[in-house]
Amino acid sequence: MSAPAGSSHPAASARIPPKFGGAAVSGAAAPAGPGAGPAPHQQNVADSLSCPVMQNVQPPKSSPVVSTVLSGSSGSSSTRTPPTANHPVEPVTSVTQPSELLQQKGVDSSSTTSSASPMPNSYDALEGGSYPDMLSSSASSPAPDPAPEPDPASAPAPASAPAPVVPQPSKMAKPFGYGYPTLQPGYQNATAPLISGVQPSNPVYSGFQQYPQQYPGVNQLSSSIGGLSLQSSPQPESLRPVNLTQERNILPMTPVWAPVPNLNADLKKLNCSPDSFRCTLTNIPQTQALLNKAKLPLGLLLHPFRDLTQLPVITSNTIVRCRSCRTYINPFVSFIDQRRWKCNLCYRVNDVPEEFMYNPLTRSYGEPHKRPEVQNSTVEFIASSDYMLRPPQPAVYLFVLDVSHNAVEAGYLTILCQSLLENLDKLPGDSRTRIGFMTFDSTIHFYNLQEGLSQPQMLIVSDIDDVFLPTPDSLLVNLYESKELIKDLLNALPNMFTNTRETHSALGPALQAAFKLMSPTGGRVSVFQTQLPSLGAGLLQSREDPNQRSSTKVVQHLGPATDFYKKLALDCSGQQTAVDLFLLSSQYSDLASLACMSKYSAGCIYYYPSFHYTHNPSQAEKLQKDLKRYLTRKIGFEAVMRIRCTKGLSMHTFHGNFFVRSTDLLSLANINPDAGFAVQLSIEESLTDTSLVCFQTALLYTSSKGERRIRVHTLCLPVVSSLADVYAGVDVQAAICLLANMAVDRSVSSSLSDARDALVNAVVDSLSAYGSTVSNLQHSALMAPSSLKLFPLYVLALLKQKAFRTGTSTRLDDRVYAMCQIKSQPLVHLMKMIHPNLYRIDRLTDEGAVHVNDRIVPQPPLQKLSAEKLTREGAFLMDCGSVFYIWVGKGCDNNFIEDVLGYTNFASIPQKMTHLPELDTLSSERARSFITWLRDSRPLSPILHIVKDESPAKAEFFQHLIEDRTEAAFSYYEFLLHVQQQICK
Ligand SMILES: [Zn+2]
Repeated sequence: MSAPAGSSHPAASARIPPKFGGAAVSGAAAPAGPGAGPAPHQQNVADSLSCPVMQNVQPPKSSPVVSTVLSGSSGSSSTRTPPTANHPVEPVTSVTQPSELLQQKGVDSSSTTSSASPMPNSYDALEGGSYPDMLSSSASSPAPDPAPEPDPASAPAPASAPAPVVPQPSKMAKPFGYGYPTLQPGYQNATAPLISGVQPSNPVYSGFQQYPQQYPGVNQLSSSIGGLSLQSSPQPESLRPVNLTQERNILPMTPVWAPVPNLNADLKKLNCSPDSFRCTLTNIPQTQALLNKAKLPLGLLLHPFRDLTQLPVITSNTIVRCRSCRTYINPFVSFIDQRRWKCNLCYRVNDVPEEFMYNPLTRSYGEPHKRPEVQNSTVEFIASSDYMLRPPQPAVYLFVLDVSHNAVEAGYLTILCQSLLENLDKLPGDSRTRIGFMTFDSTIHFYNLQEGLSQPQMLIVSDIDDVFLPTPDSLLVNLYESKELIKDLLNALPNMFTNTRETHSALGPALQAAFKLMSPTGGRVSVFQTQLPSLGAGLLQSREDPNQRSSTKVVQHLGPATDFYKKLALDCSGQQTAVDLFLLSSQYSDLASLACMSKYSAGCIYYYPSFHYTHNPSQAEKLQKDLKRYLTRKIGFEAVMRIRCTKGLSMHTFHGNFFVRSTDLLSLANINPDAGFAVQLSIEESLTDTSLVCFQTALLYTSSKGERRIRVHTLCLPVVSSLADVYAGVDVQAAICLLANMAVDRSVSSSLSDARDALVNAVVDSLSAYGSTVSNLQHSALMAPSSLKLFPLYVLALLKQKAFRTGTSTRLDDRVYAMCQIKSQPLVHLMKMIHPNLYRIDRLTDEGAVHVNDRIVPQPPLQKLSAEKLTREGAFLMDCGSVFYIWVGKGCDNNFIEDVLGYTNFASIPQKMTHLPELDTLSSERARSFITWLRDSRPLSPILHIVKDESPAKAEFFQHLIEDRTEAAFSYYEFLLHVQQQICK
């Protein structure tokens, strides 16, 4: 049984049967005797508990278990009422029916759920369609806007249900960012529909270029610059032809930066930071035909909610947006005069609202082009109540914890509870913050933490086939009112299950209960799991054959074994609940299935293979540090994200953890600063009439303080008409990250070998296309423009990455986790995972060092990933993103070993070493300063392994030397020859 709340039991508003209520309130320590619980295993658990008060609660046999969640939330009954046009409902649940319609549209048939969510579309209407700012600005606007409004709802008024959405096949996005079976070997661009030369059909738009630009300001520049031809100027470095097989040292000594789009200085200055927003091509081809010729992937890489040190926050009655396409006003619009601005995405001319004439920064009137919205490409608006369909939710955190024998053995509870105790006051939230705990093995345990109790009450539910919530009102409690009880529980939890003999895991039923518990508010569920779920809904079987780990042939089971977790995630998403998974396991746990609970609910996935709190101290320390970040980082609730782009471009596939609601609205129950996204683009209409294109991301969310906010990023790029210009603007790192995302989809929907072929073909096709367009090149050589010179190296790195490698022993969960990371990490972290950075660190100097917070941080040059760079006399640091290795050569200078590692000689360095000691020497200071600096640049704490040459652990380090040949894979040089061979075919 897996029926979601609200659909399985007709009496949604029934009260809790008195039997529960009585038992729960009585506080009597119910003995867990054989008569108390129906299942024999329950007794084992109960006996082992030292929790102060504990009760076994059974559902009454006489009445069906009731979704008490629904009964507790006001207005929930309307979710059961068939909506009609004039059905009076409260704003909270206003758009029930269309939401389901849209949700169905967005879900492929296999994942359609019966969720009776009242919420889904509300937010769709808000960000995209309800024009709240227009309503408020209409007070100062003389006439209502007659323009056609393409979005579903015209006002947030509850009775006006959004009009049926007209299907737009040509712009219909794939329902999910996961899986696109139509990909050709090569990439999607080759098959995208080509509609070149189609002019805008609306006469209002067609003459947009002729508007005179009379009003001075930086914005007017935008129509005349951009796409400065690179061919007319002396050849830029990015177009320098590089003979790949001859030029052996292509890796720069310093980190590769994002290319700067070829715009004029004013636009450059205003443009969005590449840390938030990058495009694979910084020069956008004018037509799909030109893009097809270049054989390069076109798409965006986003890091929309990253931590910012500076962010203009705008409080204004009127959030100025285009009346036609809902774009937020931004630095790249044009002011036709003081009173009118032209949208840079759809070219509609809009009025400047009266309020916008006043500049709050300069306190002057009549300078709309100097408003902060027009001077910053990243801004955040405080949204008015027009952007809400219910009061902003409080921060709600639920922890769902595996307490089976396996979990207790691994010992994570101690670390988690300790970390929670330390960070309880730092959890993002306000006075309304709520928190709750559930534990589970073969049964599910709830904790009554209601203020006023003398101690926490444990309530055991053993009917996992139809889980109900005992005392639903006292399981998620106010953090401040119940803080002492929460602390008591956190102090007691680690020891409560120490003697358990319960090996089963009823994860699925526990998640169903969590969903019920969270549904009235939404929020974040953090699940800690240590094994395969073995009981009840969502149980899984082992699918991994350890003998196949190093297969070069078919790698199976990359997709989920059941759609249970995906369905549950979609239900959660509909109720604004994200599920984060912490998998701490020493054995196969079918991450491919479990990960779905997070992928589709906009959650995060963390994986700690071989976790053990004493046997694997570095993993334990990593968990501790990761938790600190996880618990205290910024969080946004009930969020939606929409990406808009200039007319003519269209988005067709999204990558990341979210649910695509309607065609292009990403539903994010939670958003966190460490989440990255990618989007594939195609060019549907020729861009010949414009010299610039823009992309805008709008992220509407509720802050942990209960404010509705909209973070907006706008990126501007030039349009080019020649192939050379397209090549000149390649952002090779963005391209490789997008390809990695596409390859993950391909691996799951088709096969790993198909994905690998597609990656190789991406190199072959692009270099071949380049070769055939540059006539004066030697045909025998493998040439690339300088902008693409790292492309083959990065693709080879991907082929050797855990996610895609073959022939090297790779545990299935490890592989799947790597794929999950590729799909959800922002570019900056993903690149280190794909191509680690290698530095020599036994001779660090202050030459070129940078100063950070009174610390001098050495900047050693990057080394290529090859054993030929390792000398036995040296020590090298490899930064793989989530892991650091320090490899110490056999002949390494004793001074380094003594001054930095703290041992007298090579032989005395222990086999397992995970820390650099704090020694009072200059070289120790330099090494630690450098490593700390690297560590600080990422959200999650990397593990450090100090690897002695000739120790067995060095294989881990050497597998990252991707330029070298291995038994299973090409060296870099061999790969180049292979590519060349394919081109000459
Ligand atoms: Zn517009």
